[in-house]
Amino acid sequence: MEHVDAVVIGAGAVGLAVARALAQAGREVLILEAENAFGTGTSSRNSEVIHAGIYYPTGSLRAQLCVRGKALLYDFCTSHGVAHQRCGKLIVATSDADLPALHKLQATAQANGVTDLRWLSEAEARALEPALQCVAALLSPSTGIIDSHGLMLALLGDAEAAGAMLALCAPVQAGRITPQGIELDVGGDEPMQLRARTVVNSAGLHAPALARKLAGLDAAHIPPDHLAKGCYFSLPGKAPFSRLVYPAPGQSSHLGVHLTLDLGGQARFGPSFEWVDRLDYTVDPAGADHFYAEVRRYWPALPDGVLQPAYAGIRPKISGPGEPAADFRIDGPAVHGVPGLVNLFGIESPGLTSSLAIADLVLDRLGHSKN
Ligand SMILES: Cc1cc2nc3c(=O)[nH]c(=O)nc-3n(C[C@H](O)[C@H](O)[C@H](O)COP(=O)(O)OP(=O)(O)OC[C@H]3O[C@@H](n4cnc5c(N)ncnc54)[C@H](O)[C@@H]3O)c2cc1C
Repeated sequence: MEHVDAVVIGAGAVGLAVARALAQAGREVLILEAENAFGTGTSSRNSEVIHAGIYYPTGSLRAQLCVRGKALLYDFCTSHGVAHQRCGKLIVATSDADLPALHKLQATAQANGVTDLRWLSEAEARALEPALQCVAALLSPSTGIIDSHGLMLALLGDAEAAGAMLALCAPVQAGRITPQGIELDVGGDEPMQLRARTVVNSAGLHAPALARKLAGLDAAHIPPDHLAKGCYFSLPGKAPFSRLVYPAPGQSSHLGVHLTLDLGGQARFGPSFEWVDRLDYTVDPAGADHFYAEVRRYWPALPDGVLQPAYAGIRPKISGPGEPAADFRIDGPAVHGVPGLVNLFGIESPGLTSSLAIADLVLDRLGHSKN
């Protein structure tokens, strides 16, 4: 049995941010990643948007950690040379029927501490983005885009500089809570057993399943896991907009088929929303069919047949169909009673934006005082 001070399970953006924070707080940190590279999970299958914090219920972890995480992330990108762009975003009302939703959003954003939104008339919006069709829009100047791989590389670099080690092809298969610490059975090419004082379960889509394999953790503290797939379609050629464009929120719990840009200036549309029961990242080209009508509500000039299947991501949901969207869960000893254990559940959007703020909260849950 090997002894380690702190183990972080999962090398996505959140796990890497947590490992960095623990290592910088003076802890000996081992990151265990099941795959043969870091960041191959949800952290490389998303919109790469630095969200402002507009949508989430006021007071929720998602709202608080997004707003704080955004500020930390912009500073981190600047200090570490991570490619990003504060391009801004327009949330558009495409008919008068959308106006109440847009007003409600403006009020929620204000209550969440997002104080820089600007209400634009149709003419003001079209002056910024001539291709846009809308009756009014909200401009979010602090929304941006980021190179998520570059972010993770910089987080890992900091973590390793502070002494953390990354073990790849090291899937955690099971574990036990014991009076001496948390024991983990690690599979892969070099199976081993570890005992750690601190364990952070940051296994993304697999976090609830992994928690269920920790003997001694009360199942009442483990949420159900649900999967919701989102597919993206890319637009060849020059992007018709220089800011992100999102439709006003409708009835569904996701943000609608929006237009995002990558740092190369390429436009893509998505993500769609579909409940699924297994991890399958294929993108069905026929899925583009319903995108055309949705996108043409704000970009009528979208030509027929141009959208190309791009990639898919899967949201690690802990609430199911018909249920209200769940908040992030960052469960420490005060919740489940196991010293040294933090479970991260339901870290879907805006998890990338919030990663640095989540890491601070994990340390807080573990009783590290801020210096
Ligand atoms: C479609 C979509 C769009 C999104 N868009 C945005 C956006 O624009 N902006 C934003 O802020 N957020 C966005 N998000 C959310 C964001 O991508 C996630 O919140 C974030 O990437 C989660 O990071 P993570 O480290 O928790 O998980 P992951 O990146 O999934 O990392 C988990 C890691 O754990 C490893 N692992 C799993 N099981 C084990 C095990 N047993 N042992 C060892 N390792 C294990 C996996 O291999 C993986 O590498 C989006 C999400 C989706 C699905």
